[in-house]
Amino acid sequence: MDILPREFIFQQHGVVELDKGLGADIYGIDRWGHEILTVLPNGDAGLLDVQNPSAQAVSIPSIVHDLAERGIHSPILLRVNSFLENSLIELNSGFANAISTYEYSGEYRGVFPIKVNQQAEVVERIVTTGRKYNYGLEVGSKPELLIALAQNLAKDSLLICNGVKDEEFIRLAILSCKIGFNTIIVLESPKELELVLQVSKALNEKPRLGVRIKLTHQIQGYWAESSGDRSSFGMTTDNVVRVVERLQTEGMQDCLTLQHSHLGSQISDINDVRRIVKEACRFYTELKTLGVPLEFLDLGGGLGVDYTGEKQSNENSVNYALGEYCEAVVETVKYAMDEAQIGHPTIVTESGRGVVALSSMLIFDVLDTTLYDSKVLPKPNENDHHLIGDLLAIEDYLSAERLQESVNDAIYYRDEVRALFRRGNIDIKSLAQAETVFRYLVARFKKIAAASDTSPQLDEQLGHFADIYHGNFSLFQSLPDVWAIDQLHPIMPLQRLNEVPDRHAVLSDITCDSDGKVDRFVLADGISKTLPVHDIADDEAYYIGVFFVGAYQETLGDLHNLFGDTNVVTIALGENGGFDLLHEVEGDTISEVLDYVEYDAQACLATFRKRVDSAVSSKQLTISERRVLIAAYKDSLGGYTYFEK
Ligand code: PLP
Repeated sequence: MDILPREFIFQQHGVVELDKGLGADIYGIDRWGHEILTVLPNGDAGLLDVQNPSAQAVSIPSIVHDLAERGIHSPILLRVNSFLENSLIELNSGFANAISTYEYSGEYRGVFPIKVNQQAEVVERIVTTGRKYNYGLEVGSKPELLIALAQNLAKDSLLICNGVKDEEFIRLAILSCKIGFNTIIVLESPKELELVLQVSKALNEKPRLGVRIKLTHQIQGYWAESSGDRSSFGMTTDNVVRVVERLQTEGMQDCLTLQHSHLGSQISDINDVRRIVKEACRFYTELKTLGVPLEFLDLGGGLGVDYTGEKQSNENSVNYALGEYCEAVVETVKYAMDEAQIGHPTIVTESGRGVVALSSMLIFDVLDTTLYDSKVLPKPNENDHHLIGDLLAIEDYLSAERLQESVNDAIYYRDEVRALFRRGNIDIKSLAQAETVFRYLVARFKKIAAASDTSPQLDEQLGHFADIYHGNFSLFQSLPDVWAIDQLHPIMPLQRLNEVPDRHAVLSDITCDSDGKVDRFVLADGISKTLPVHDIADDEAYYIGVFFVGAYQETLGDLHNLFGDTNVVTIALGENGGFDLLHEVEGDTISEVLDYVEYDAQACLATFRKRVDSAVSSKQLTISERRVLIAAYKDSLGGYTYFEK
């Protein structure tokens, strides 16, 4: 493939800088790459070790090939432990710096909400890396509590229990304090307090309590519903007062040491952070004035991730850096407490996506392509319908100036031909002739559009004729937020980034569901409906990476079409461009996935075997064919749920 001159690239993509490789420019790696990605001279996407900037970048395609040799095939969820550790270190250092800048006299004590990524590998690494920061865990269910209680948390770290809790949950939480955990039960309602009082009396043990308060300030974006007074969790002010009074009556007011006020999720505007923290502080200072011995101010989640690198306040980006977030929180709490002449509380946050999103990427191969063009213009036939002639004639007046008119005409004539076919007025060969002319014209339209200034409406029209690249992944299993809420993740090819991508495609997954496609992409010059990709040869391995999938995506996925968990590998980047394989978890086998939906794999095999045997008896099948069939069935049961090469 030719490497095109700078001016051409400039024209095609409106890109300003080309120093760091073509890929970086088109896909905007410099904007969203967070210093973990680069383009290598051979055009491969490379991973940088954030903790060791002098180390050589590691080629992602070479990791994929190496893993394939070990029998670990794509799709792969690749987790890089140094990325995860680095996020945690940066968060804790950010708060330490802000505390020192503002001479804040309290501490910071973060906790990781397990629901954001429940995978044992991730939770254990956070616990290990977080020990020196007294980093703790947040749980929202009994299984998560069991996970947390099996972790080696630092002595002073917190274990925050949110969500709806039953008697057993409460018993475990209270008793866990006796084995060295700082478990705080965050009360969600006055009713829950009654259950806690009952269990506590039966055990003759005092609980450590928090109270979850609903704030009224509502954030913007996909997660607006998780904030404000219509959010599902937390108490209204009257209930908060009832809980405090009830504890006072029971002589247990000293148990209430934490106020929980969840700011929201993916807060995109730093001034929203300040406003919500300020409201949380009002409740804190009021409760202190009522004599509640609060020590901890838990601000929940909210630290956003800049998925697009736009550095703007919108659904997929944020207008602040991590350091600014820490400063905004510490400064706001300090001013509010100083004004009310109250000592500085320990600040707790439950950042989820901000800690884990960056650390994982989904890598999949392209299985096939549906190309929406034809390179050659078919020759007109004598007895062609006049509409085919009209389509062919568009070529004569097609130009940048008359592009919209040409597109309109082509669509109209093509649709008329289709209508004639449906009514039985033209035959299949004429329809094929018309479709081929149309695809030829579309290729010409796209080329002209790429080099000219087109209207958004025309872009939209041409977007319908994008190529389709069929990827070996399930959107529903691996990228549920892309499907459910149009979450954007940076996506790009992982090789040939030093070549101009000559096609524009949407990505389709291998579920047989029309929703299983990705058609919004982060590019250097904005959000696009198509992804620039390369023309690929039939036998060429072409990989695509979806970045920042470490938060929520790994655990939300359902078993759509019974595609199970993908293979997961964790690597450490080496000094010299290599890497060590630290951990491997094999993806689900089909029999495991069947088990999830309550089929007995062995019973399925027995039924199948019976059917095969009866075909042998009636001589429909030979003995050797039987062997092949049974082996294929058995191998499939034990195999990967994805396309296997
Ligand atoms: N804490 C609570 C109570 C939550 O509900 C959430 C998610 O909404 C989080 C923490 C994590 O939020 P984020 O991933 O935005 O940091």
